[in-house]
Amino acid sequence: MQRELKFDSKLKNLLEHLGTLIPDNQHRESFFDYCLIPQPTSFRLNNLLSRSRNVKSIIPETFLSVPWCEEGFVLPDSRKIGHSFEHAIGGIYIQAKAPMLAVNMLNPKPGDRVLDLCAAPGGKSIQIAARMKNQGLLVTNESSSKRISSLVGNIERCSIANSVITQTKGTVLARYFHNYFDCILVDAPCSGDGILRKDKNFLRYWSPENSKRQAQVQIGLIRAAFHMLRPGGTLVYSTCSLSIEENEHVIMGLIGRYGNNVILRNSPNIECPTLPDHITNSLHIDALKGVRIWPHIHDTEGAFITQLSKSTLTEWPKIESDANDWPNTTVDDMPARRAIEIIEKLWERDLPRIPGQTLTFSGKQIVTQPKESESFKENLPFFVRGGMRVGHQYKQFYHLSQPAVSLWGENLDNKHINLTWPEVQQLFLGLPFKLSNITKHRGEIICRFGGWSLCKAMVESEGRKLNPMLPKVHHSEAVHSLFNYK
Ligand code: SAM
Repeated sequence: MQRELKFDSKLKNLLEHLGTLIPDNQHRESFFDYCLIPQPTSFRLNNLLSRSRNVKSIIPETFLSVPWCEEGFVLPDSRKIGHSFEHAIGGIYIQAKAPMLAVNMLNPKPGDRVLDLCAAPGGKSIQIAARMKNQGLLVTNESSSKRISSLVGNIERCSIANSVITQTKGTVLARYFHNYFDCILVDAPCSGDGILRKDKNFLRYWSPENSKRQAQVQIGLIRAAFHMLRPGGTLVYSTCSLSIEENEHVIMGLIGRYGNNVILRNSPNIECPTLPDHITNSLHIDALKGVRIWPHIHDTEGAFITQLSKSTLTEWPKIESDANDWPNTTVDDMPARRAIEIIEKLWERDLPRIPGQTLTFSGKQIVTQPKESESFKENLPFFVRGGMRVGHQYKQFYHLSQPAVSLWGENLDNKHINLTWPEVQQLFLGLPFKLSNITKHRGEIICRFGGWSLCKAMVESEGRKLNPMLPKVHHSEAVHSLFNYK
């Protein structure tokens, strides 16, 4: 009871603190009301998968589209969709509407060098990779050893091939990269005061003093990121905090260090009430170029996003040797090519090659990865892994990986079987089951449903039985489908 009272008084303090940013009484009351109700569920289609690119026609009209993200949709309620099969196979990523804006503002292109400095659990990295069409280089960095596994899991589930995952503090990464990246996202660790509708646990640690302490970490991160940005590149700073301390003050911390070399860009035109005069008067004019997503206006969580560039007029001195000097490590891709050819022969179809990537075969894994990945592995002490597993060798056999099935299953149209919904439910149990119709196929095939490639399975008992090869992590007794497939 006492704990609840303490919680309530913290909530009151927080709302009062943020309420000072909204001069209009009606707006402020509406903000308070929205903070207390759950937010609707939303998701993003993973456009790397071909079915994601053409599934829009069956999305119900009640799912509203996200104005700043073409692939984003909001459900009419707060139902849970984590057990949908579309989620298991990487067809969607569950994400609030507000954070989808940051990647839109970053605007990465295929072939760019991109850094996601604070990446776990990976929602924005996956959105970035999709915008890059899985090409170029995406360094996804995360400092927390507890959170790195969720990042690795999501990158794998969503078939991301152009990432190199590193695990270190953002400031440490800056020793290895100078003027290197075309685009950098700093989705900074923050007090989380904007996610009140989703999770109130952060309140335990919240106080205005704590926000100020967070700001010191954030200033360190944005300065490190600026150092790593190439002149003329794009840096996006975002938080799920609505406070001035963790946003405008951080931008001022960057301007304080780099002055006119920081070029703040205008944000997209998104409805956002202006801050009261006594606050704006205390801030640098450029720090006001960011956008605040308010829960009561956009019916999502709170967020702040701003974008900036680095002057091309200054001579940026080179401090020490860095990634620009690392020679590309040559890899013998022949064993990987041979292994892929064997897989292609087995499936009687060619597998796509991702432009600009190298293939490697080590530890029995066949991997497609950014061309920089091997030299990063040699030079970065906190390298975790690079690229996407295409397949692996087991004894004398070569097997296609689950990420490759999700990504390229559609190409393997020679050996597939369309399942019924009850069969999909059986498949997700992970146990062999009897097929409703005998299949002519033998051996390994791709299971499909609703136009999605689900996983591989082994045909047994002369076409009567199917033994699913769905990775254990996706097994579920409660699988459901997000859309209605005829
Ligand atoms: N961008 C992520 C996404 O879209 O899924 C969310 C990132 S979350 C807001 C911030 C992350 O920064 C946390 O996972 C946290 O562990 C990590 N972090 C905290 N301190 C860091 C540091 N010094 N360097 C890099 N990452 C840090």
